[in-house]
This record gives sequence, C-alpha cells and structure tokens, in this order.
Amino acid sequence: MHKSVAFHNLGCKVNSYETEKMMKELAENGYSIVPFDQKADIYIVNTCSVTNIADRKSRQMLHRAKALNPSAVIVAAGCYVDTRGETDVADEGVDICVRNAQKKNIVPILEEYFADKEDGSGCTEAVSFETADFHTRRFIKVQDGCDMFCSYCIIPFARGRIASRTVEDVISETKEYVRMGYREFVPTGIHISSYGKDRPDDGEGLIDLVRAMSEIEGVERIRLSSLEPGIVTESFAEELLSIRQLCPHFHLSLQSGSDTVLKRMNRHYTTDGYMKAVDILRDCFDDPAITTDIITGFPGETEEEFRNTLDFVERVGFYETHVFKYSRRKGTAADRMPGQITERVKHERSRILLELDRLQRRRFEDRRIENRRVAEVLLEDTEETDGRSARTGYTRDYIKVYDPEAGSRAGEIVCGTLERAGDRIIIRRQ
Ligand code: SF4
Repeated sequence: MHKSVAFHNLGCKVNSYETEKMMKELAENGYSIVPFDQKADIYIVNTCSVTNIADRKSRQMLHRAKALNPSAVIVAAGCYVDTRGETDVADEGVDICVRNAQKKNIVPILEEYFADKEDGSGCTEAVSFETADFHTRRFIKVQDGCDMFCSYCIIPFARGRIASRTVEDVISETKEYVRMGYREFVPTGIHISSYGKDRPDDGEGLIDLVRAMSEIEGVERIRLSSLEPGIVTESFAEELLSIRQLCPHFHLSLQSGSDTVLKRMNRHYTTDGYMKAVDILRDCFDDPAITTDIITGFPGETEEEFRNTLDFVERVGFYETHVFKYSRRKGTAADRMPGQITERVKHERSRILLELDRLQRRRFEDRRIENRRVAEVLLEDTEETDGRSARTGYTRDYIKVYDPEAGSRAGEIVCGTLERAGDRIIIRRQ
C-alpha cells in the first residue's frame, strides 16, 4: 500500500512553491497526498522562521502532526531547521529534518529513512487523494537566497547566498504550467531584484527573464512580487512598460520612512531614493498600484522617526501597506541593538499605520471606480457569503473584485467597470 503524506505550509511564497514541488515529487513517486487534518503515515511541515510567531507556529504544527498520528513520521523542513539546527528541532519530536537546500531530495530522503524500517505493511489507508488545486495564478521560483543582510533579518542565514535559476529552466517550467491552464505568473524569490547577479557570465537579468516569459504563448499576465527600489531606473521601467503582460502593480518594500531607521536597518536606500523609484514608475505607468511593507518598533525607533514614516507613507500614497511589528531574531545585528521597543508601543504604531492603510486603499479603489476605466479581471476562486457563491478575481493592478454574473469560469478574463457594493467591489461587464 502507498504511504500517505500530509503537508502543512507556513511562511512566504517561496515556501509555498517548494511545498507544491515536494508534493508533486512524492505524488509522482507513488505517495498519496492527503489533507493535513487526516491520519497520515508522514507529516511534512514546511516551516518558517521569519519572526518569533512563525517559529511558534512551526513548533505547534509539528506537535499537532504528532497528535494526529503518534506513530507517523514527522518531517520538519525549511527555515526553522536552518536557523535552529537539527539537534534543537529533533527535540520537538521530529524524526527527519530537511534543510531548505535538501527539499529537492525529499523522495530519496524518505526512501533512505524507510529502508531501515518496516516493510510498508503498517501504512494507513489514504482516504482521499488531494491533487493540486486548480488556480489561475502561479508562483514560479526564479531565485533563492539573499546577500543584503538587513540588520533585522534571519533569512540570509536560513536561505544562504543568492542562487538564480537559468532563464531556460524557468521558461521550461512556465510552459508546463501554461499547458495546465495557468494564465498569470509571478516570478518569486527571496530577493528577485538580485536575479542573475550570481551568474554574471550569462548576462541574464530580471528584465531578460520577464521578457522571455512574456514570449510564451498563453502567458496572459506577469506580476512582479517584490522589487528593491534601487533596481527601478528609467530604462528598467520603460523595458517593463514595453511588456504587454506586465501588470502595473509594484511592491517596493519600504520598511521605514525614516532615513535614520533605514540606516540602522542596513537597507541600501534613502527615502529620497525610494521616492525617485516611485516617481519613475508613475511617470511611465498610468497610476500604477504601489504596495509596500513597513516594520514598526524597530530598535531605537523614536516618536519622531515614527512620525517621519507616517508622513512618508502619506506622501507616497500607497495602494496597500503591509504592517509588521518588529520581531527580535537571535543572531541578527538588530537583536543586539539598544533601545528595544515595548510590544505596547509596537502595537499602537501598527494600529495607526493600519488606519492610514485603510484610508489609502479606499482612495486608490475609489479612483478606479470614479474614472470608470475598463478593468480586466482574471477570475479565480469562488467565495460563499450568505448562502450565495460568487467568483472572485483580481484586476491587473490587484484590486480584488467579485463577479455578480452566474456561470463564470476560473481562468476566464472579463472586462468591465468597477462599482462598490457594500464592502465589496464588483465588476459590471461591458
Ligand atoms: S532583502 Fe533584507 S529583509 Fe529581504 S530577505 Fe534579504 S536580508 Fe531579509
């Protein structure tokens, strides 16, 4: 009987991509993939270690797996293993530790483990076989690792130095997903602005990759996940503008709107440099969606520095601001900095920023609704509310939209104007 494997994924888009890859590998090698809440022979938790909360969740899921089937083999994979070390993680009742770099060998790792164990007669019966959900948007991992060493971040220690896939490799995988029906592609990595820098002899950068992806028949949209402000030059923006499928949605991580905090964070730009990148994008694209991340309560962040961040966020006029409270990570420079901020202050600063985010998001959406510009929506999932289901999708500038018409299909692209209906934005087809 086949062994059954249940997965739980935590953390970033790169982790989700790697979870799906491991699932695919195991399914192709005769394992049955079952839901995580079901009794399985093997539980694989693809862990995250970006914050203390992520560490805690990783531990909780490992314990939950053991409780679901005490005789199952528990596998901890990913960043929690890389940052904690295998001895520490084994203390959580884990049978196998898989580092990030070993995920691609999941099949031989399990085979080797079981080679010394039972003959397989103790397998649980797989009640349901879970195939990968059909989605229309696909994350494609194009690089791993990061050389930036922001003072608060543990990821370079967990993921290592940058390592880019070749354009050829990414293209062949993208074609495979086009054949499966995917229409939107998101080149993803730990730091995609570094794409190709580790292979200077190839002379292939992010633009070459995006252009090559756009030349594949069936690729309808390409969305960039997160960019470093420093990569945005006039020629970079013009190149992007010339790629029809490129969505006018740019996520530029800001982290702080105070130059002194940016310096302590070891970010490699100033607020002026950041604003220049935003201006270039706005000169090139017609009111693109600019989104960002902010960390509140970085060590030593004064009231004045926080005010500077608020003012800067207001000045940029983001579509969305993702707010994170600073989380101490052992082994990072920021963990050793004086002036650690209390949770109460971090919480209050986050609340203020989230309030501003709500306002800015509404302003952006209202502009789209009022200018009655025709929006193109790629339909994806369905959502149930009050006993009625509606298909949802995203515009090219990443506004979530509900389609009130019955009978639409996932993967369909519909065009129309946007309207507000209660809390939702709906599309009126043309
Ligand atoms: S750019 Fe900074 S925050 Fe992002 S992964 Fe690299 S070190 Fe971490």
